[in-house]
Amino acid sequence: MGLDFSRLLSERCHQLAPSGIRRIFELSATLTDPINLSIGQPDFPVPDAVKRAATDAIENDHNGYSMTTGVMALRNRCAQHIAQDFGWPDGSTVAGAKDVAVAVTTGTSGALFLMNMALLGAGDEIIVPDPYFVAYPHQATIAGGTAIRCDTYPDFKMTAAKVEPLITNRTKAVLLNSPGNPSGVVMTQRECDELLELCRRRGVLLISDEIYDEFAYDDAREDYAQGRRCPSPGRAPGAHEDVLVIRGFGKTYGCTGWRLGYVAGPPALVNEMNKLSQFSYVCAPTPLQLGAIATFDADMSGVLSEYAFRRDMVVKRLSKHANVIRPGGAFYAFVEAPPQFGHSGTQVFEAALERNVVLIPGNVFSDRDTHFRLSFATDRQKLEQGLNVLDELFAGTPAAR
Ligand code: PMP
Repeated sequence: MGLDFSRLLSERCHQLAPSGIRRIFELSATLTDPINLSIGQPDFPVPDAVKRAATDAIENDHNGYSMTTGVMALRNRCAQHIAQDFGWPDGSTVAGAKDVAVAVTTGTSGALFLMNMALLGAGDEIIVPDPYFVAYPHQATIAGGTAIRCDTYPDFKMTAAKVEPLITNRTKAVLLNSPGNPSGVVMTQRECDELLELCRRRGVLLISDEIYDEFAYDDAREDYAQGRRCPSPGRAPGAHEDVLVIRGFGKTYGCTGWRLGYVAGPPALVNEMNKLSQFSYVCAPTPLQLGAIATFDADMSGVLSEYAFRRDMVVKRLSKHANVIRPGGAFYAFVEAPPQFGHSGTQVFEAALERNVVLIPGNVFSDRDTHFRLSFATDRQKLEQGLNVLDELFAGTPAAR
């Protein structure tokens, strides 16, 4: 007789529904040569210098543990990058490290997980955007807390005005994601500053998930002393005291499988996250950390302009039929389901799937099912084919269902 796992498994596991994206993966695996517009990772190879640095590290026997906070050279490079980008104290120096702690993490997901574990317990709340990156609400649940969804429709901006009514005395943090998944929407600097001002006034932490920071198209960037950059609450004066910035390597350099990210922020929080990491992840993969040092010298501008071109293709083709908020970054558009599909993202998803095109229905990312996510992390030819199918689908009247 087998063990009774329904009794053995934790309440935590019973509470968690499997990710809706998994269902889409399983479905698309049954199709022959689908036009897959559901992909959440870039379609370009890791820059050669970065590959070489990682393979050299393996060949040269750098295969042991690193410090929990990361290989020193990478951690220092991340700290210097943040200092240069935001004008924060430089966490790679003894003086700067008192004010800003930087740590390499096991993916951006690993950083988010440690943050939730460090901040949340029973009854604690974190405010997350809706639509959201799928892990946000579940990680809060795993940590024992609750994710309070901030409805950001129709423009997908998580503004201070939308967040303020949700803050209670149980709120620990507000989690901002700009450029956002699934919408690609980028907050302006002013909107970021207003959100930070609200968080400061109410004594809660602002977490900024900036995994797509380098994937900000020129029209969404703003001018700073450091050049044209993606807006961030981290750019506000004194933000190192009350913003935790989370960034990643996977999307920017095409190495999602390397599981590398980093955090920068107040030592009082980051040191606790490191403690949790010591007893769980231990460290991110050492040779890949050594590879990631080379990313800081990689020029990704060619990739960015290619993605901007595809973004324009998507907006131009779909806005004839549907309400499309122009993505300022990332590689997704979150499109409203047209009225002939009953404004249902699932109906569009199913009709597209019958025509061999894989999208993701909005309810995977949201309490609502009014939209669908289209990823343009696929080559122009496939994207064009997919857009042709959607063009036809939206122009015609689909079979009653
Ligand atoms: N945050 C957002 C907004 C994302 O879209 C993703 C990945 N899709 C992650 C975090 C997790 O990234 P990583 O692979 O670095 O864990």
